[in-house]
Amino acid sequence: MVLADLGRRINAAVHDLTHSNLVDEKAFDSMIKEIGNALVEADVNVKLVASLRKSIRQTVNFKELGPGVNKKRIIQKAVFDELCRLVDSHSEPYKPKKGKANVIMFVGLQGSGKTTTCTKLARWYNARGFKACLVCADTFRAGAFDQLKQNATKAKVPYYGSYTETDPVKVAKAGVDKFKKERFEIIIVDTSGRHRQEAELFAEMVQIQEAVQPDQTIMVLDASIGQQAEAQSKAFKESADFGAIVITKTDGNAAGGGAISAVAATKTPIVFIGTGEHILDMEKFEPQRYISKLLG
Ligand code: GDP
Repeated sequence: MVLADLGRRINAAVHDLTHSNLVDEKAFDSMIKEIGNALVEADVNVKLVASLRKSIRQTVNFKELGPGVNKKRIIQKAVFDELCRLVDSHSEPYKPKKGKANVIMFVGLQGSGKTTTCTKLARWYNARGFKACLVCADTFRAGAFDQLKQNATKAKVPYYGSYTETDPVKVAKAGVDKFKKERFEIIIVDTSGRHRQEAELFAEMVQIQEAVQPDQTIMVLDASIGQQAEAQSKAFKESADFGAIVITKTDGNAAGGGAISAVAATKTPIVFIGTGEHILDMEKFEPQRYISKLLG
């Protein structure tokens, strides 16, 4: 299901209820049920959906609504607020500071959009007056450095990597040290995805974290990840304790409910969403704005 369809279904459910002549408890219940079904079909975790349904029911408290109150408004607001809560981790992401070296490390599966997002983020900070650069610590995938180099060149972002060094920890450290000396303010470290043994990859991430001491670790999740998002984000969180999430490919044909569920599973905020392949296709994530847009 694409995101727009999810929005349309939720809207239709609310609209059907609030525009019918009889806003009774039965109609209210069936609206909640339809919203829940739409969310589950969009891969939002079943437990989260159950809790959202319960919260809407509790907030509205249909039985207690007096005759004079504007039921429609109360219901609309409850749905909106609960959807915001679903995508809001209620925790503050790291805010880079000007005039110092802020090291940001990316983790995530191969193909999730890490390298693309690293470049988008470097450009984003460059455009906001930070001196940003990229370090390629993916020595595993042949062509990883070339890809980063190409992206960085297009975005006019300085980069570091190696064709000969096979130890990603050494490359990461060397790149971060070099750019720190050169007084870069945003140093973004791209790491390898998961193509070898999982345990080995996680060990590598931890070693890179120890070597470069990132101020922020960001996990990249593809919007099409589906129900396994929760387990996967928890596994990453246990080893490479990330403090922010970027959801990529929100322009694709998945509504991204799985990725959104990772927010609750790891209590971690989404900071940006990828909206296309182009370097400018990235938006800052704000729960209320996102839900407003979803509901059109
Ligand atoms: P990595 O292996 O995690 O580094 O992933 P890449 O950055 O190489 O991205 C894999 C593919 O996803 C590439 O073809 C990217 O152009 C594409 N991609 C990344 N982010 C987005 C996005 O937000 N929207 C779309 N449509 N494609 C994206």
